[in-house]
Amino acid sequence: MKILYGRMSSKFSTIFFGLTFLICTVMLNNAFCAEAPAELKEGYRMMVGDFEVTVLSDGANKRLLDQQLQLLQGDKERIKDILMRAYPEEQIETTVNAYLINMGAKLVLIDTGNGTMGSPTMGNVIHHLRAAGYKPEQIDEVYLTHMHGDHVGGLVSGAQPVFPNATVYANKREAEYWLSDSNRNEAPVDVRRTFQAVKTAVTPYMIAGKFKTFDENVSLAPGLRAKELFGHTPGHTAYFIESKGSIVVLCGDIIHVAAVQFEDPTVTISYDSDKAEAAKTRQQFLAEAAENNWLIGGAHLAFPGLGHVQTNDDDGYIFLPLDFPTSE
Ligand SMILES: [Zn+2]
Repeated sequence: MKILYGRMSSKFSTIFFGLTFLICTVMLNNAFCAEAPAELKEGYRMMVGDFEVTVLSDGANKRLLDQQLQLLQGDKERIKDILMRAYPEEQIETTVNAYLINMGAKLVLIDTGNGTMGSPTMGNVIHHLRAAGYKPEQIDEVYLTHMHGDHVGGLVSGAQPVFPNATVYANKREAEYWLSDSNRNEAPVDVRRTFQAVKTAVTPYMIAGKFKTFDENVSLAPGLRAKELFGHTPGHTAYFIESKGSIVVLCGDIIHVAAVQFEDPTVTISYDSDKAEAAKTRQQFLAEAAENNWLIGGAHLAFPGLGHVQTNDDDGYIFLPLDFPTSE
């Protein structure tokens, strides 16, 4: 099913998906219905030079302010003050985005969302990929910013690869860390789940000889290069997508809680494997992004997660999200 994704008015989408739901209710076992997204978030698509970039929302989770506060490390009073200003209802939403790049010569996916490994409000990347007019079989390459479950979970459905024709790439340090049995055995019980998720997610690709690693800040294809941003995880990596002088930097989890970490980039989160390195890397990256006026795309920045960074003259930054068109 191919639709003009992101070009439908909201009224038309409501009618369209209402009708789809009605047809599906009548024809429960129809293959067409199995592919129809139950709930479709408006898509965001833009051109970066000759490359088409489509943001695929995986979904979102909500946390109470106190729960979020426990996860963040830094000046707790200041963090609480920022969170209360940003979220007066004290419900903090964490979104997950993946990015689909049509490079002409190939179709590339940056991260895959949770798949079936996350909460029921997650796992929507494939719905949105299909709604964007593509099929999982068409993906040529998947590049992982890192190997936490909300980035690798979408690689598989059970033990089956979701992207049967794709080669999956990750930084060598990242893959070696998460695929090491001794690291898993030494990890706290809750972190062991992530080790297992990584193994489940990449095993079918490894068996097929389609899991590859790279080192350092290499060029991976014309217009696609890696940049090491270690700290959140041992091999956390950003991807630069460049065409005809335009650029978007897909920077993974360099920011988890935008309201807090742009204003105070020294704040870390409990998922950071090396907190000091994560804070240093974030500060350096945001300084570079502001200086070079890079368009950045973050996995946990509010959908569609694209925008520019500006200094705030107080050792912090301001995120300037791109306008998100909601009408023609
Ligand atoms: Zn993440």
